[in-house]
Amino acid sequence: MNLERLLSIPHKRFNPLMREWVVVSPQRTKRPWQGKVDKLPATPSVTYDPHCYLCPGNKRAAGKQTPQYSGTFVFENDFPALLPEAESLSYDDKGLLVAQTDLGICRVLCFSPRHDLTIPRMNSQELRGVVDAWAEQYSELAEIPWVRHVQMFENRGELMGASNSHPHCQIWANAALPNHPAREDESLRSYRAEKHSCLLCDYLQLEMHRNERIVCQNEAFTVLVPFWAVWPFETLVLGKRHVASLDQLNSNERDLLADVLRRITVRYDNLFETSFPYSMGFHQRPTDGQAHEAWHLHAHYFPPLLRSATVRKFMVGYELLASPQRDLTPESAAARLRDLSETHYLNRDSS
Ligand SMILES: [Zn+2]
Ligand SMILES: [Zn+2]
Ligand SMILES: [Zn+2]
Repeated sequence: MNLERLLSIPHKRFNPLMREWVVVSPQRTKRPWQGKVDKLPATPSVTYDPHCYLCPGNKRAAGKQTPQYSGTFVFENDFPALLPEAESLSYDDKGLLVAQTDLGICRVLCFSPRHDLTIPRMNSQELRGVVDAWAEQYSELAEIPWVRHVQMFENRGELMGASNSHPHCQIWANAALPNHPAREDESLRSYRAEKHSCLLCDYLQLEMHRNERIVCQNEAFTVLVPFWAVWPFETLVLGKRHVASLDQLNSNERDLLADVLRRITVRYDNLFETSFPYSMGFHQRPTDGQAHEAWHLHAHYFPPLLRSATVRKFMVGYELLASPQRDLTPESAAARLRDLSETHYLNRDSS
């Protein structure tokens, strides 16, 4: 069967990582769009904001101070969602009211002392510093005996609820696998048991061969719009070598990860000439001391924008109650992203 024939009619696609379906309705992209297509006013960019608690030298909550740092800076979140120590309690009433304590460590990692320096505008050395910090944090947290999962994520932009525009990410370490990594863990392990091979290595092979959804790549990483993407311009960053976590990347691969992250985020910013909002994060092997050979390091980008800097996709109605649905096909989204320049729109005149 040829995918071509499905591309103009409603169909559903299977996500083998999450084991769920997404409805694709390509015929609906032909309906007239009557919403507004606004550009956002350019946000004033300052390298230092005296009111930003992540800028060097500024006061944070409870009298703490952010030091004069250069490069990256990590600290324990002043308002953590989870705590590293708690009495171990569990509650179970007929298997229907179930609760238990959850241990965690919540850290904040500032990418740069510069308030305005987002990932797509960093140079390769600065970005390599961020990759090294991620790998270090993963290793450091993995060493803690009760930590079984490390989740790094960046929420960028007000649309994603980011409360501070200073470029930073969060790192949450948990005593148990959260929902999404747990489901991926099951999928990766059962695929390996059944096929004696890696789900994501095999998937990448297919994508490289078909060359329909690839956005950009280098020798070590490929960025593609997954076949089962839910968000309009969702992408998946896949390592070409089967490694399970950031700490297993060699020095060259860390440079190449920095390269590919800059290139996809420049493309994102160029798409609607805005500082493109997204949630992104890495999924990597659980940190319970097992080898987890089924695991394959990857990053997801989930951006909400659909048609312009202000028109976003909402996950409502059918999506909340039944299945996610999209109109723009993943193939068209990949083509849009692929055709964009890798020179940031704000740097165009200076080149
Ligand atoms: Zn700042
Ligand atoms: Zn693999
Ligand atoms: Zn994942």
